[in-house]
Amino acid sequence: MTKYGIITLPAFAGEDEGVRHFFGTRHHSGHPAVGRGSSGLASSEPVIVVSVEQVHGTDALVLDRPVKRGETFPGNWDALMTNQTGLLLTVRTADCVPVLVYDPVRMVAAAVHAGWRGAVAGIVPRTLSVMRRQFGSKPGSLQVGIGPSVGPCCYEVDEPVLSQLRVGFPDWRSVVRATGKGKALLDLRALVRRQAQAAGVDEGHIRSVNLCTVCHPDLFYSYRREGTVNGTMISGIMLTRHKKR
Ligand SMILES: [Zn+2]
Repeated sequence: MTKYGIITLPAFAGEDEGVRHFFGTRHHSGHPAVGRGSSGLASSEPVIVVSVEQVHGTDALVLDRPVKRGETFPGNWDALMTNQTGLLLTVRTADCVPVLVYDPVRMVAAAVHAGWRGAVAGIVPRTLSVMRRQFGSKPGSLQVGIGPSVGPCCYEVDEPVLSQLRVGFPDWRSVVRATGKGKALLDLRALVRRQAQAAGVDEGHIRSVNLCTVCHPDLFYSYRREGTVNGTMISGIMLTRHKKR
């Protein structure tokens, strides 16, 4: 579903469930509304946007207290999580995978930036285990939304990537297709999905936007396609004050 330049996955988190989310397209990313807090999310509540420096690492920023508007979070974070309402957790991606996580039981939300380095290093399962440790989130309760990224159609990787994948992910064969000597097409979204399942998330609780950022220049920026960083897409998730049930 695309509206106002954003894509949502109602099956991942409907609007009446105490959470809002979106995956941005190039028609939304960098829009000043994001910085001002309205963010493309229809909300009458005050919104504080949390945006951090990403480095293709695996560290998670835990926000378990109220945050002041304009507050910054020095450090390098590729995952953000909170149990606070009104905090819009955002990640920026071009071809990397934006992953949003929602725990409707413990009321926790997380946003993850997973490129191949972070994915292979296990940023998604690591984030889930930090959610469990910090907030008591059980993997079986979690909903996972996987956003648009470079697809297996367009993501040929070579030996340096494959050798790390083999070390980091025992089931690596299930997410690659060999194309030649030392080269293969890697399905980053499938890697994230399988890692989440291996961490205990129900298969039926994982939803993906199956759009390739390289194949859809009308919708997405792509470093792979454009050869340069022309822009990034912003994706976000926010707990809302009232759960309409
Ligand atoms: Zn593609």
